[in-house]
Amino acid sequence: MSEKLSFVNPTANSPWGTYLSQVDRVVPYLGPLARWVETLKRPKRALIVDVPIEMDDGTIAHFEGYRVQHNMSRGPGKGGIRFHPDVTLEEVMALSAWMTIKTAAVNLPYGGAKGGIRVDPKKLSQQELEKITRRYTSEIGIIIGPHTDIPAPDVNTNAQIMAWMMDTYSMNVGGTATGVVTGKPLHLGGSLGRVKATGRGVFVTGREAARRLGLDLRGARIAVQGFGNVGSVAAELFAEAGAKIVAVQDHTGTIVNPNGLDLSKLVPISRTDGVVGFKAGGDIVPNEDFWSVACDILIPAALEGQITAERAKTTTARLVLEGANGPTVPTADDILAERGVLVVPDVICNAGGVTVSYFEWVQDFSSFFWDEDEINVRLDRIMMNALNQIWDTADKHKITLRTATYAVACERILMARQERGLYP
Ligand code: NAD
Repeated sequence: MSEKLSFVNPTANSPWGTYLSQVDRVVPYLGPLARWVETLKRPKRALIVDVPIEMDDGTIAHFEGYRVQHNMSRGPGKGGIRFHPDVTLEEVMALSAWMTIKTAAVNLPYGGAKGGIRVDPKKLSQQELEKITRRYTSEIGIIIGPHTDIPAPDVNTNAQIMAWMMDTYSMNVGGTATGVVTGKPLHLGGSLGRVKATGRGVFVTGREAARRLGLDLRGARIAVQGFGNVGSVAAELFAEAGAKIVAVQDHTGTIVNPNGLDLSKLVPISRTDGVVGFKAGGDIVPNEDFWSVACDILIPAALEGQITAERAKTTTARLVLEGANGPTVPTADDILAERGVLVVPDVICNAGGVTVSYFEWVQDFSSFFWDEDEINVRLDRIMMNALNQIWDTADKHKITLRTATYAVACERILMARQERGLYP
């Protein structure tokens, strides 16, 4: 953790700094609610935990873990758990704040939270991964719970990790608390449609944005950064709609094929060898070339801070669909707007995951499970309603979709804050 870190003085170009400048941009549209805006500029609660585990070789290793509850004015905290070597408190603060905006933007009865451990899970055995997950869950158990704060998967975490989290929390409280996490395996109270929900939301919002731009998806060229849960599912849905996936980048490198990559081969190979394992299907190019590849739609679906000012100048895309959280830095946002590139911001574009997480949580409480069609119909309706409302706000004030999303979301959050009043 940076010694200089404070809630209000972020490190330059950090995710938290990006978030604060996004909030600053919305203040002129908040009217009298602007007097409450400071509440959004600091997390409600931030927990740092030590996670010691015995490694397979008998040594004791210590990892740093976090759970940040940014805002709970509209309901319990909600947000994923990230296992990554670059996780910091400041990053988790930003990710938790984006969850607050996101749950409000799609009008789910949640606040925003996020957690993570600074660890490279690829270097852990399965047994070590289970130990680190369970100890971390126990440490943050003092602030999470089905009615207080509900974690979910994020980068490098999955349904198995959610099952261990649910089991650990349940053992500690002496019952079976399926509603404490979402993104669980199906037979442990998981929901149909959850695995594909975020990618599906990217597709649904992207299809509508393309329609409004007059961009025909049939034959549209798409570049995707990040080929995990979000990027690969979104790519498959766009390909089914007739688009060509012309470039894909993951942590192993970048593959390009102007005629379209064959996803039926790329997806399974990428799961074991990364996208560079599909050499037969395209050209492997230097990573920086990804940002200037000829395309109509760019989908960043990896990590934050990827679309820098330089990359915003070189992209040929007309439409950016933010599958990842915080992929565009504010200076790049301005350049994209000046160049007439439409950005569907993360806080609406990738909200499909948390929306189906909400369905999962509701199903867990009622112990009654819906079929996949019902999930997808409800998901599409929530995403489309939210996008249309945000689009109207953007048109009314002549602002970007990002600022419009923040305007809609911040109004809901601060209205709740005002109506609840300050305690004591
Ligand atoms: P994932 O772990 O399934 O996939 C991450 C992908 O990013 C992998 O293909 C990995 O190779 C790639 N990647 C990692 N580092 C990279 C680098 N330096 N350069 C290029 N590629 C790199 O994760 P995910 O669940 O798909 O999440 C991706 C993004 O979407 C994250 O920003 C996450 O916060 C966001 N998100 C995820 C969900 C969800 O439901 N999974 C929901 C909302 C937002």
